[in-house]
Amino acid sequence: MFKKILIANRGEIALRIQRACRELGVKAVMVYSEADRDAKYIRLADESVCIGPAPSKDSYLNMPAIISAAEVTDAEAIHPGYGFLSENADFAERVEKSGFKFIGPTPDSIRIMGDKVSAKQTMIKAGVPCVPGSEGALPDDAATIKRTAKQVGYPVIIKAAGGGGGRGMRVVHTEAALLHAVQTTKAEAGAAFGNPEVYMEKFLQNPRHIEIQILADQHKNAVWLGERDCSMQRRHQKVIEEAPAPGIPRKLIEKIGERCVAAVKKIGYRGAGTFEFLYENGEFYFIEMNTRVQVEHPVTEWITGIDIVRTQIMVAAGEKLPFVQRDVQLKGHAIECRINAEDPYKFTPSPGRITTWHTPGGPGVRVDSHIYANYFVPPNYDSMIGKIIVHGDTRDQALARMRTALAETVVEGINTNIPLHRELMVDAKFTDGGTNIHYLEEWLSKRDR
Ligand code: ADP
Repeated sequence: MFKKILIANRGEIALRIQRACRELGVKAVMVYSEADRDAKYIRLADESVCIGPAPSKDSYLNMPAIISAAEVTDAEAIHPGYGFLSENADFAERVEKSGFKFIGPTPDSIRIMGDKVSAKQTMIKAGVPCVPGSEGALPDDAATIKRTAKQVGYPVIIKAAGGGGGRGMRVVHTEAALLHAVQTTKAEAGAAFGNPEVYMEKFLQNPRHIEIQILADQHKNAVWLGERDCSMQRRHQKVIEEAPAPGIPRKLIEKIGERCVAAVKKIGYRGAGTFEFLYENGEFYFIEMNTRVQVEHPVTEWITGIDIVRTQIMVAAGEKLPFVQRDVQLKGHAIECRINAEDPYKFTPSPGRITTWHTPGGPGVRVDSHIYANYFVPPNYDSMIGKIIVHGDTRDQALARMRTALAETVVEGINTNIPLHRELMVDAKFTDGGTNIHYLEEWLSKRDR
């Protein structure tokens, strides 16, 4: 096992990884920007290093600063968390070339999966079902683009090969709008992701977002840890996640889970990863793979009893997975609400000083957050300030526990989306289970009227 790990991230996930390090008896080095200097999790760390001013590009995305921080502290490995540099193949490569272990897959795996076009091609070869669409990136030629759209069938969605975080996508309903949409998405993709390549997919009308968590070691062992339902989204970003997915036959999920494990073995993937699917009319369609730990990993941890972050560190250190597929037994139901510093219905960010921070507790309640009273939410980063996760023997019990947990929570000084979560936890359609990816936005637009 490593003696010391550098955590190249901030906020709740930095604290989550620090906790895993403590449990493993590994020293944790935190890096921080000037905006995060006073955060308590920095003070809790064995060591900490300032890596630059508040803007991410000068700190959490500053590769030389992070690598030098690992050098001066004698860390052996770097955990990238999620976001920031976690899916940056060049960073993973520089980390390994500088003599550190990157806690994640190989730079090659990250590169292949980071380009959604090559990811899809790899999955097709590995026998994972994908959304019908263009074979690879779209060419410049207008006639071919039109022909492809006709074959796929309208509506189609134009997606950036290098896209992420719900950005770089455009739905097209008619041929008249097609070429303009392709051009605009290309231009945006070039500017935002440094890669103008786009591809086309059939736009599924009422799918659910279902994803499969996998873990693999460096000794050809891999398992899948059940699924998560992340259909409650706005602007393609997840708001509530749960596991298992309500109402989908276990047989279907097992089939897709086994496909994912086979693919992982075929491509020699190592570490934690997530296969994201759209699910419609009993079929799963792969959309992308995330090569890192996900925000919503706690719901899986709770129903499986497996610590995903701890396992990530163990397999990066060369250890074998300490369990096999038949040890993975799903128990009960877990739900996660992402707590964001934002207007609950308009979603405008609400940074600033938190005056009161009272978190819930009791049986089946977990709070993953780095926040405390008098904490200042900096305006420079993602608005998520924590997650409330609950577990119950049944989905109904989990829902009841979430309602209680949200009722107990008090955050003052800034706006949060807690009022939104409170409403959704008593919404008849959501509590029935099985809402699709458009449900939340439709619900929001009805609420406005
Ligand atoms: P990102 O990497 O930006 O998260 P994804 O490819 O994972 O992009 O897609 C994010 C979300 O966009 C999905 O969860 C879904 O809501 C929507 N989406 C993506 N592709 C399609 C599609 N072919 N049909 C319908 N919705 C889609």
